[in-house]
Amino acid sequence: MSDSLPRHTRVLVIGAGFAGLGMAIKLDEAGFGDFLVVDKGDDVGGTWRDNTYPGAACDVPSQLYSFSFALNPDWSRSFSPQPEIQAYLRKVAADFQVLDRFRFGVEVRDAAWDEEAQQWQVSTSAGDLTADALVNASGALSEPKLPDIAGIEDFTGEVFHSSRWDHHTDLTGKRVAVIGTGASAIQIVPEVAERAAHLDVYQRTAPWVMPRGDRAYRRLERFAFRHVPGVQRAYRTGIYWGRECFVPAFTVNPKLAAPARKMALANIERGISDPALREKVTPHFEIGCKRILISNDYYPALDRPDVDLVTDPITEVTPTGIRTADGSLRDVDVLIVATGFHTTDMPIAAHLKGRDGRTLADAWRESGMTAYKGTTVNGFPNLFFIVGPNTGLGHSSMVFIIESQITYIRGALQAMGERGISALEPRADAQAAWTADVQRRMRRTVWSTGGCASWYLDDHGRNTTLWPRTTFKFRELLRRFDIEAYDALPRMSSTKETAA
Ligand code: NAP
Repeated sequence: MSDSLPRHTRVLVIGAGFAGLGMAIKLDEAGFGDFLVVDKGDDVGGTWRDNTYPGAACDVPSQLYSFSFALNPDWSRSFSPQPEIQAYLRKVAADFQVLDRFRFGVEVRDAAWDEEAQQWQVSTSAGDLTADALVNASGALSEPKLPDIAGIEDFTGEVFHSSRWDHHTDLTGKRVAVIGTGASAIQIVPEVAERAAHLDVYQRTAPWVMPRGDRAYRRLERFAFRHVPGVQRAYRTGIYWGRECFVPAFTVNPKLAAPARKMALANIERGISDPALREKVTPHFEIGCKRILISNDYYPALDRPDVDLVTDPITEVTPTGIRTADGSLRDVDVLIVATGFHTTDMPIAAHLKGRDGRTLADAWRESGMTAYKGTTVNGFPNLFFIVGPNTGLGHSSMVFIIESQITYIRGALQAMGERGISALEPRADAQAAWTADVQRRMRRTVWSTGGCASWYLDDHGRNTTLWPRTTFKFRELLRRFDIEAYDALPRMSSTKETAA
C-alpha cells in the first residue's frame, strides 16, 4: 500500500472513511478496476480512525451504522464504541479485497480541471497524477476548528483538539480544562473526570442531552443476528423506521418533540442534584435546533465535587490558565479543545479549481455551499461529493445517505462510460432549482426557527449542511442518475450539448 501513485487513474477517490471505502467497494463490484483511493491518514476509518478520545462511541444505533451490504452480527452493544467501528471498517476493507487500490499517507494538495484534456490534474504529497473523475469523500467533520481565543498559542501546558487526542499525555492528578459541550465533549468529560485531579468544563451554550439507551447485546441476540436468516435485517429496518419518525419534529413542527424535551429535562433532574447547576445546564432553545446529544453519565460527571461547569465567557488563555469575563483565573495543566470542525467552509473547496479556473471556495463565497443533489456542482465537471452540501442528518445514520450517493455517482460514471462522455456537470438551472427547494423547505425547520446558533449554519445564517426531508426521499431522488439534468461533453468533441 506504499506503492507510488500511477500517472493516471479513471476515478480518484479522496478519503478512506465510510464514504471512500463504500465507493471503492461499489466501483469494484461494477467492474471499474481502474480507481484509486487516497487518504492522508495511515488506515481506513476516517473520523473513526481519527477520533480516539476516551469514551468515543457512536450516537447512532450500531445496527444502522454499518453498510447495508455488510451487516455486522458481532456488534457488542446497541451503540458501538469507536474501536469496534474502526475494526468493522478494517474488516470490510479486507473482506471486499479493495485495499490494493488504497494509498495511505497521501494528501491531496490541489486539483484543477483541465478543459483541454478533459481531466483533473491532481497534485498530492506523493506526486502528481491525472484523473477522469474525482470523488471527494473526505468527510464533513474532518478538519478541527480551533477556538479563536486570545493567548491560546502561548499556553505552556499540553493542548490538543478532541479529534487529535494526545495519548502520551497522562491526565492522572492533573488540572484539566475542556472547552466545549458538544457531542465530543460530553463523551470526554465523564472519562476525564475519573482521571483528573480537577476538571473545568467551559460551556458557551447548554446542549439538550437525552438518556443514552445503550446496552450490551445478549448472546442469544448475537446468535440470532448471525444464524437466523432475516433477523438482523428486520431488526435494522425497525430501528430505521423508528429514527425516521423524528423527521416531522425537525422539519414540520418542533412541538412534536415535546416528549423528547421532557425526557431530556428528566435526564437533568436525574443526573444533577444541585439546583444551581441544573439551571446552568438547562438549554434555552428548541430541542433539535442543535444536534441532540445522548448520555447517561455527562450530568453525573458535572455534579462531581472535583468538576466545575464554567459558564462565564472565556476572555483569554494565559500561559498557565484560563481567564473568564468575571475576572477569575483558573489554573490548567492540560487544555482539551472540543470545539468542533470546519463544516460550512469545507477546507478542500479552496483547493479545487473548476472549468473557469475559479476555486470552489470562490464559487461558493456568495451562495454558500451548494451542490445538485448534494453531489455535483456546475462549473466543476466530473467532480462528485459524498456527504456534500445539505446531506447531513440530525436523527439517523449517515451511512444511509452515503450509500445513496454512492449509487448515484456510480450511475453517473457508468453513464459516462456507456455514452462516451468525457465531461459531465449539472446544468446551472437544475442546481439552482434544487438549492431553492432545499432552502425553501429549510425555512420552517427547527434548525432555522429554534433560536440557536449551530455548526449547521454558515456565516449568513443559511443551513448548507442538513437534509430537510426524510432519508427515504433522499434515496428515492438519487436512485437513478438523471442525465437530463446535466450538460455532457462527448469524448473527442469540442461542442457542449445537453445529453437528454
Ligand atoms: P460541536 O458540536 O461543534 O461542539 C463544539 C462545542 O464547542 C460547542 O459546545 C461550542 O459551543 C463550543 N465552542 C466552539 N468554539 C468555542 C469557543 N471559542 N469558546 C467556547 N466554546 C466554544 O463539535 P463536536 O462536539 O466535536 O461535534 C461535532 C459533530 O460531530 C457532532 O454534532 C456530531 O455530528 C459528530 N459527533 C458524533 C459523535 C458520536 O456519534 N458519538 C461524537 C462526536 C461528534 P456553542 O454550542 O456555543 O457553539
